[in-house]
Amino acid sequence: MTTPDYRAILDTIAAEVAPLLPEGRVADYIPSLAAVPKHKFGMAVHTLDGRRYAVGDAAERFSIQSISKLFALTLAFRQQGDALWRRVGREPSGSPFNSLVQLEHEHGKPRNPFINAGALVVTDVLCRHFVQADVALLQFVRRLSGIADLNFDHEVAASEAATGHRNAAMAHFMKSFGNLEAPVDEVLSSYFHQCAIAMSCEELARAMLFLANHGVNPHDGQRLLTVSEAKRINAVLLTCGTYDAAGDYAYRVGLPAKSGVGGGIVAVVPGELAVCVWSPGLDANGNSLAGGYALERFTTLTGRSVF
Ligand code: GLU
Repeated sequence: MTTPDYRAILDTIAAEVAPLLPEGRVADYIPSLAAVPKHKFGMAVHTLDGRRYAVGDAAERFSIQSISKLFALTLAFRQQGDALWRRVGREPSGSPFNSLVQLEHEHGKPRNPFINAGALVVTDVLCRHFVQADVALLQFVRRLSGIADLNFDHEVAASEAATGHRNAAMAHFMKSFGNLEAPVDEVLSSYFHQCAIAMSCEELARAMLFLANHGVNPHDGQRLLTVSEAKRINAVLLTCGTYDAAGDYAYRVGLPAKSGVGGGIVAVVPGELAVCVWSPGLDANGNSLAGGYALERFTTLTGRSVF
């Protein structure tokens, strides 16, 4: 397969998405997300052989929100392996990311680790394992990216805590089924902090390369996951990583991907590269509207996908 001209492809995509930027709806459940200008757009591609490409606002940090669920899952999976799946499923939910409905039917076992209930269980695993789970996660993301100055946005974390009644309800509900071990407040605080990590497209693309690299962190050469474990995380990303639109993403984009309500989406082409796109206007499912289109065009123009 010939090497695509990533530089030209990113420029083409940036021009194509420009008319979409005024569309979509910026997440407004907390002031610091609502204040992010809608016209922002950035995209970064990092290849395993060390090439880097970026366009637009790719160096600007934003709230990674649910993209953190992927890093938390990786860290918890490293601790627990397949035992993790006794407490959280790995099936697409077919319901919104913050839905409580399925939890009752499935006796407090969330459908997958990328809906909020599942991420709370994953966070609980981390709380049992680390003295300060949120700090351990931040350090893990620093290691994945090779970037030491990543941090929480404390204003976002405080707003998440002040408005996170639905997450609190889910945590208490799961606790009532015995599927949360640590104190609810500890799990919630850790979860709100992980959502509030701020990173740019370039930093996220760097941090995702270990999944393109079959589990080896290319920045320090250390194996973080076995080949098989990396495949499994990528599989869950493909089937569950983009809220209630994972089927549509598999169809349109064809890559393991994870989105967040801050407007970021990360994706990997296994064996080749990681890509991150950011645009804060969201579609009805909570995925970045321009970001989804950008990834669709990326796989079409490069001829890359997992299929
Ligand atoms: N902090 C958000 C919440 O828990 C994360 C939402 C998201 O990015 O999906 O509601």
